[in-house]
Amino acid sequence: MALDRKLAPNDLRAFWMPFTANRQFKSAPRMLVAAKDMYYTSADGRQVLDVTAGLWCCNAGHCRPKITEAIQQQAAEMDYAPAFQMGHPAAFELANRLVDIAPDGMDHVFFTNSGSESVDTALKIAIAYHRARGEGTRTRLIGRERGYHGVGFGGISVGGIVNNRKFFGSLLNGVDHLPHTHLPENAMTKGQPEHGANLADELERIVALHGAETIAAVIVEPMAGSTGVLLPPKGYLEKLRAITKKHGILLIFDEVITGFGRLGSAFAAQHFGVTPDMMTTAKGLTNGVIPMGAVLATAEIHDAFMSGPPNVIELFHGYTYSGNPIASAAGIATLATYREEGLFERAAELAPYWEQAIHSLKDHPHVIDIRNMGLIGAVELEPIEGQPTKRAFDIFVKAFEAGIMIRTTGDIIAMSPPLIISKAQIDDLIGKLGDVLKAAA
Ligand code: PMP
Repeated sequence: MALDRKLAPNDLRAFWMPFTANRQFKSAPRMLVAAKDMYYTSADGRQVLDVTAGLWCCNAGHCRPKITEAIQQQAAEMDYAPAFQMGHPAAFELANRLVDIAPDGMDHVFFTNSGSESVDTALKIAIAYHRARGEGTRTRLIGRERGYHGVGFGGISVGGIVNNRKFFGSLLNGVDHLPHTHLPENAMTKGQPEHGANLADELERIVALHGAETIAAVIVEPMAGSTGVLLPPKGYLEKLRAITKKHGILLIFDEVITGFGRLGSAFAAQHFGVTPDMMTTAKGLTNGVIPMGAVLATAEIHDAFMSGPPNVIELFHGYTYSGNPIASAAGIATLATYREEGLFERAAELAPYWEQAIHSLKDHPHVIDIRNMGLIGAVELEPIEGQPTKRAFDIFVKAFEAGIMIRTTGDIIAMSPPLIISKAQIDDLIGKLGDVLKAAA
């Protein structure tokens, strides 16, 4: 039965919307009321092609019956159970299934409810890990310019987005940032760019400045999604891995977007052949259907906490909803769907088609860069002088009217469709987006 959720204009007042121009939205709302596979249905009854997998999360497409049924069944059987000093089977099963698809050596899973919580959890584990091993001076954290690690105080401190930081006080102490890797000489590169691996050497400079014995961890997105699909230059992640290993610093990959098949492997770590010490995940873990995140850690990290008396809590950290039964059931069904439908392999197979499709937009007005990898891509537009973000935002609105849901960040259009997208739907996207770009000029 369809849910009847008709709203009068005044009913929009109470919800203070996140990362939204509230007044603009409420003057001309873009309302979604249903979803199936690759499409949303808008409130005015139009089918809108979802080219963003919701918010980079619905990797198997929308309203997949197996996931829906798993949630319904778990909700009816046991709605909630705590994971503090208690357990229930679904959380343990999901942890095992995650370890099955993770890079070798990632053997332990700490559940959270979001990407932001995964990031703050990983940062806390990193500091506590060194302390547990008698290296309590290792407390400094290193992030990267233009990094996005969610909106907790830890995440915005290591993150590198000015607007996410500057309104919120002094943030965490003891944080440094590597330079971002978005270089003009890599413009219009297909796949991984050539220039910029040397930017990882900046880590040596930071280590020399503070001393390795003060540094706990480096956190980066192996491929930055939210800040406009910024790809790691060839050799860059390998260098970061080598330098962190040399100095006993933990390397954390924030795989909140790159996890669960986006690049054609379960995780970006496998795609790039570089294994970190921890990975943060969320989004595609439950196909976006129920909030859930997870931190994956090596046995070395986990075991460092396990040497005290066995009846004493080892890590003073956790959430009321860590390993929530309904979220766990959704996660198990989601991973089964990815596996049974071969969706990670499908993303890898479609990647060359996707690459040539999005690069075909290069001659459109105001396009200054196009980037792609796996089933993710970005079209960067020349900003309107004095009005940054306006050009892309206008295109986002027009694209929605034309029946495609894209996402914009600054003047960059980002696209990350569900991994079930067909070639015909990719063609449809390119045709419609091309028309919108032309019309906007
Ligand atoms: N890390 C990365 C790399 C992300 O892309 C995001 C969300 N886009 C987050 C963390 C935060 O996730 P959440 O919004 O679930 O807190």
